[in-house]
Amino acid sequence: MTLKLPIYFDNHATTPMDPRVLEEMLPYFTEKFGNAASNSHSFGWEAKDAVEQSREKVAALIGAEAKNIVWTSGATEATNLAIKGAAESYRAKGDHIITQATEHKATLDTCRHLEKQGFKVTVLPVDGEGRVNPDDVKAAITDRTLLVSVMLANNEVGTIQPVSEIGHICRERGVLFHCDAVQGAGKIPFDVNEACVDLASLSAHKIYGPKGVGALYVRRDKPRVVLTAQMDGGGHEQKMRSGTLNVPGIVGFGKACELCRAEMAGEAVRLAAMRDYMESVFLKEIEFAHVNGCRAHRLPGNLNISFPYVEGESIMISMKDVAVSSGSACTSASLQPSYVLKAMGLPDELAHTSIRFGLGRFNTMEEAEYVAKLAVEKIAALRELSPLYEMAKEGIDLSKIQWNPVDD
Ligand SMILES: *Cc1c(COP(=O)(O)O)cnc(C)c1O
Repeated sequence: MTLKLPIYFDNHATTPMDPRVLEEMLPYFTEKFGNAASNSHSFGWEAKDAVEQSREKVAALIGAEAKNIVWTSGATEATNLAIKGAAESYRAKGDHIITQATEHKATLDTCRHLEKQGFKVTVLPVDGEGRVNPDDVKAAITDRTLLVSVMLANNEVGTIQPVSEIGHICRERGVLFHCDAVQGAGKIPFDVNEACVDLASLSAHKIYGPKGVGALYVRRDKPRVVLTAQMDGGGHEQKMRSGTLNVPGIVGFGKACELCRAEMAGEAVRLAAMRDYMESVFLKEIEFAHVNGCRAHRLPGNLNISFPYVEGESIMISMKDVAVSSGSACTSASLQPSYVLKAMGLPDELAHTSIRFGLGRFNTMEEAEYVAKLAVEKIAALRELSPLYEMAKEGIDLSKIQWNPVDD
């Protein structure tokens, strides 16, 4: 068995499209090209039928009814629509939004935008494993709170949030609950009714579907959620999101959800076995290796791990045939390590030396074995060059060292 290089272990950033999804989409680019809003001829009806079938499939993945699914261009748009749309609609009821520190930028920056418009935003902290405490949510809710937004699973460390507990608290207090379910839906069980979720963002390209298509789940009864549209136009999608539908993308999204639903249980076991194998190799072979996140509540394909005394960037460069990502954002001008790892209280030296391995449907155990072995070799070689590592091995407490002369 020969291994094909490069190896893709960055499935939290995006996933390759499943060939079965592509096959389903292809006719909708050519012979079945109709506009789903054209209701006067068979081209339009055919497109509309396909869109409605997909709506059923996406809804089924999250235990929802098809009428509650609104198509968008992706999860960023879905989250903007959920949070801004609710904020505008419920302004009279309240002006307070609660979220938490490790949310995706789509959520945090949307909240920041609303803050500039006069809304109050509470960003709750997380614990060392990246989990938000439901009691903190409960304590933060006031009479002015209109929305709580907490993600299902984190894209960096894979930490799964206690969304069901949070959902029940929100329901009891009459506060809307939005959940960015992008990384979790299709990979772990998620049911909007069981979790009392009122709004949920989804994206096709994180679950082996096409890029540029997503959806927002919007609860229609108990309670009926009313959102102010953020895109004005033809009044598509029950007036919540105007614009001609991306029919091939929607067909692909539906197929992607159908496949995830059918294969999720077995796939979770397979991915967790590969991930656990890599984790055990690293913990055994690499001194001071430190797993980031929550081992008890973690996505099956996620392994975020720090290798102190070697920069994440250096590890990535040394394994150029392996696509992973690092918590040290030296690509940006800021040199700031990941805000997610920082929010979890990781010291800079752990954040800067972290690597995220994101395993997915098309990865194999052979790849996991190859990458684990390669990483162990490369990290050992890099540490040979690291004076800090030598000092740490000699038992010197690096945190006690004063690196720079003090000026004053
Ligand atoms: C990728 C991602 C998003 C954004 O989704 P797009 O469809 O790419 O806009 C939002 N939240 C999480 C957790 C993600 O991983």
